[in-house]
Amino acid sequence: MNLDKLDTHAFHFLVDMLESVEIGLVVLDLDFQVQLWNGFMENHSGLTSTAVRDQNLFSLFPELPQTWLRRKVDTVVTLKTRAFTSWELRPYLFRFGTSRPVTGTEPVMYQNLTISPLAEPDGSIKRVCLMIYDVTDVASSRLALEQANKQLSRLSITDNMTGLLNRAAWENLLDSEFARYQRYCHPCSLVMIDVDNFKSINDQYGHPAGDEVIRHLAATIRAAQRRTDHSGRYGGEEFGIILPETDGEGAMVIVERLRQAIEAAVVKTQHIEIRYTISAGIATLDKTIPHATTWLLQADNALYAAKRAGKNRTEVA
Ligand code: GH3
Ligand code: MG
Ligand code: MG
Repeated sequence: MNLDKLDTHAFHFLVDMLESVEIGLVVLDLDFQVQLWNGFMENHSGLTSTAVRDQNLFSLFPELPQTWLRRKVDTVVTLKTRAFTSWELRPYLFRFGTSRPVTGTEPVMYQNLTISPLAEPDGSIKRVCLMIYDVTDVASSRLALEQANKQLSRLSITDNMTGLLNRAAWENLLDSEFARYQRYCHPCSLVMIDVDNFKSINDQYGHPAGDEVIRHLAATIRAAQRRTDHSGRYGGEEFGIILPETDGEGAMVIVERLRQAIEAAVVKTQHIEIRYTISAGIATLDKTIPHATTWLLQADNALYAAKRAGKNRTEVA
């Protein structure tokens, strides 16, 4: 655009455009006194251009990141080049509200910011222009997508009904604990748990009541486990717990405490109170176990032995 050829009329609507454009325009001198404040800034800050004219930006907005902005402007002036920051690095410069809130975050306008040097006729820089872009829509869809992805990856490893790990995720951990044992030989125990006579619980009280029992067992396991233990729902009313740094004796203490807690507990549904018991099998890793599947099979065999020996008990492989 050739400014020399602009007549007064053209200059008038040029100013009009800057006033009404949907981008925040702020011109600052090098002391951060406001020289220009367009309509976008007026609308969103609630401060008129007359009110801010020649005022120091940091006195007007004490919450601005002063050190950061000074450093940015310094660079722009020294290098005579533009600087850009994205909402991903700093969600906003000016804390403005928005009518299009981003899901799950506070209703604040996300902003991209460009800082441009404004050259004097002699080439020196005595002013800079801040351009503030409202990118709430972009941020909103991006953040929603990230949230959905996070939720998806959480869903793909958890069991819906109990919130414990699902079978595939839990088996992955079983494999990695097995591999870790091959390298470091730290003790590690595996427990398989199955509800006793669950079919008759279903038959007697109905499937939804059976589901309550499954949830109750999962919650009890979760409450009892240490931060490093991994519990998962292996199938219907069968659960697996991996106990790292735990030998057979230690595992027995943990499992027996759990078994007794279940034996003493009452599951209260809307109309009925259900008591139930569990059986458990423990297999502790040693060098003779060639594969994670064998490890699992041993725990399962111990569980089967507990069932045969009368249920409501714990057996060791
Ligand atoms: P045992 O003491 O030998 O374990 O006898 P059991 O009756 O518990 O036998 P088993 O473990 O084989 O029974 C599993 C039953 O669990 C079969 C199936 O109908 C039921 N089941 C599987 N998944 C679910 C579920 O998600 N909800 C409910 N309510 N029942 C389930
Ligand atoms: Mg079963
Ligand atoms: Mg069972």
